[in-house]
Amino acid sequence: MQLQCVVPRLYEVGDDTDSARSELTLKPRFMFMPEGPEIRRAADKVEAVLKNKTVEKIEFGLQPLKKFAKPLKGSNVLSLETRGKALLTHFDAGLTIYSHNQLYGVWRVVRRDKLPTTNRQLRLGIHTDRHSALLYSASDISVWQTGDIEEHPFLKRIGPDILSPNLTWQLVAERLQSKAFSGRALNSVYLDQAFLAGLGNYLRSEILFVAGIHPGQKARDLSKGQLGKLARTTLDISRRSYALEGVTLPERQYRALKKQGATYGKARFFVFGRASQPCRVCRTKIQRSTANSRRIYTCSTCQPI
Ligand SMILES: [Zn+2]
Repeated sequence: MQLQCVVPRLYEVGDDTDSARSELTLKPRFMFMPEGPEIRRAADKVEAVLKNKTVEKIEFGLQPLKKFAKPLKGSNVLSLETRGKALLTHFDAGLTIYSHNQLYGVWRVVRRDKLPTTNRQLRLGIHTDRHSALLYSASDISVWQTGDIEEHPFLKRIGPDILSPNLTWQLVAERLQSKAFSGRALNSVYLDQAFLAGLGNYLRSEILFVAGIHPGQKARDLSKGQLGKLARTTLDISRRSYALEGVTLPERQYRALKKQGATYGKARFFVFGRASQPCRVCRTKIQRSTANSRRIYTCSTCQPI
């Protein structure tokens, strides 16, 4: 018997220009754009109060989504999954809420109904018996049948999440060697969410430095050894940054620098943001340049052309 193709339920909502504009006056909360590790840590805070909890009340700020409050009330939250900058909240009612914070969205977790004072617009409020998880200002929110979520246009476009437990270094190496990425300079590949979702500017500089590879090189020109090292380093540095709250140096080295009086900002990276300072490996001065319109940091000795 042939199964009927189910058209995915997609409810996308356009940007609310007025509220988006008002958010422009807010100061950025990060020194630079959050990347995979920062996004996953933010999701962890929301997941900590929602996972395996019953939804007593759910509010949608966007009119077309309000009809989902009823089917979701009384359901349990299964998990919060990150895909690059998108967050998937899975419910045991067979529904998944897709949300993307874009530039303005922000999650807040508070005691049940102790809503913070803010002029931001509440777009999604998930309330358990003890807590409220609140998403403000985000406009890219939609509700899907969980089985259809992979049909979301954004998810179809992006690669595996850099922090996915299913991602292996062999898979990363395979993607590097694939037709889509093997002939492009790595400085471009390492910003491309279609390669791996969650990679970003500081991870790009740090991964290529630790792998000892010049950013202008292409995957197809690397030796087997270099390719394996790059794939392993990609996972190691991303996972370390997640575990150590944004630090890519080995923990012992980071702690030693802190002991000597270095700030978090000065001690966290190998090369990123360290222009003209000595390389931590060979003492050569770190160079800052621009690639794909974003700053990139390299050591000419450790990353020869
Ligand atoms: Zn060096």
